[in-house]
Amino acid sequence: MPIIRNIAQLGQPVLRGETRGIDYPSDPSVQAIIEDMLVTVADADGVGIAAPQVFEPLRLFIVASRPNPRYPHAPASEPTPMLNPEILWRSDETEKGWEGCLSVPGIRGQVPRSLKIGVRYQTRDGCFCEEMLNGFLARIFQHEYDHINGLLFLDRVEDNRALITEREYRRIITQL
Ligand SMILES: [Zn+2]
Repeated sequence: MPIIRNIAQLGQPVLRGETRGIDYPSDPSVQAIIEDMLVTVADADGVGIAAPQVFEPLRLFIVASRPNPRYPHAPASEPTPMLNPEILWRSDETEKGWEGCLSVPGIRGQVPRSLKIGVRYQTRDGCFCEEMLNGFLARIFQHEYDHINGLLFLDRVEDNRALITEREYRRIITQL
């Protein structure tokens, strides 16, 4: 049975550490971590979660965009585990958008991200997949990709004035 994992919080070294690639996606221990991450991200109303956030220093994350109380305007998509992900190219065009993080509760920030990216990853079955992502899905991918490189969205905000509280964020988005 999958279990809801504890989520590493800002300050815990695993969020800043190195990660290793996954050689054998079909390994039962890898599949068990993926199952745990799927239930953990759903339970926490996240739209993505990276392995270091559940104390697993692996190059693995899940993109799970769907409308929920934390992201009411998120597009719906099937939760997708991405193993050994890479960014192949980025559009020159960037866009600022609000981000939060399950590891940084209570804070939102305006973060510039590439509008479009080309990515490659392995599925949980080990198949290689290449696709182009844009908009919010591209944003999630870049946020999670940062996690497996020891970076947080706080490192990407251009100015501390781009940070606001969760309560203020919710007040703003209900007016959108
Ligand atoms: Zn995060």
